[in-house]
Amino acid sequence: MISFFVILFGLLIGSFINVVIYRYPRSESLAFPPSHCPACDHPIKPWENIPLISYLFLKGKCSSCKSSISWRYPVVEALTSFIFYLSYLKFGLTWDLPVFALFGALLIAIAFIDIDHLIIPDSMIIIGFLPGFYLWLGGNSHILTSQFFGFVGLGGIFLAIRYFGEIAFKKEAMGFGDVKFAAMAGWVLGWDVGLVSMFLAFLSATLLFAVLLPTGVITRKQQVPFGPFICIGIWLGVLGGREIIDWYLTFFLGV
Ligand SMILES: [Zn+2]
Repeated sequence: MISFFVILFGLLIGSFINVVIYRYPRSESLAFPPSHCPACDHPIKPWENIPLISYLFLKGKCSSCKSSISWRYPVVEALTSFIFYLSYLKFGLTWDLPVFALFGALLIAIAFIDIDHLIIPDSMIIIGFLPGFYLWLGGNSHILTSQFFGFVGLGGIFLAIRYFGEIAFKKEAMGFGDVKFAAMAGWVLGWDVGLVSMFLAFLSATLLFAVLLPTGVITRKQQVPFGPFICIGIWLGVLGGREIIDWYLTFFLGV
């Protein structure tokens, strides 16, 4: 029963994240005007705005002009809902649940805005720092040290990749937005889970390129945003970074 409400709430937040992804980079208000069809300006009625259900009911088309609605809307809703559900499985009914579920929703917004516009808005990175401050409430004095080294370490590593990548490839290898975003990841996750996350970010990027390059979906010359991979890495770090470290230490070092 609780899972049901968590999933439902995730769908509603996902619906809002769609608005954020579309309007925020265009500097449009998130509240006004109410949602309308981008093709014909037909105002979207409440029954046409139910997450997932309306998309299926409308068969992916505007009820007025029949132009197709992007498949991304239901995907973002389902993904946000899934992130909420995973957060519930991980944290149970604690304050960590809303904090990290909303953090996950923020990562989804950042990922899709980076895909669309090749930017990571500073204001969103700043919001992303908040869970790091929330962790202080737990009263663990080691956290601040780990966060500090995470912030400086991950930011430094990405800055180095940016600097030396530009020398090696004679073009921008890593955006400055990615550097700031990585520093934020280190601040929230701490240096150890942060490092695991960034390893997973590079691993997921490598795997995806291994699949997409030969098929021609993307080309070598194309500028590919790295933000979405950082998002994947951070989220995997939130869910299981600590477990991965424990497993690694036990398996290879017998600690
Ligand atoms: Zn329309």
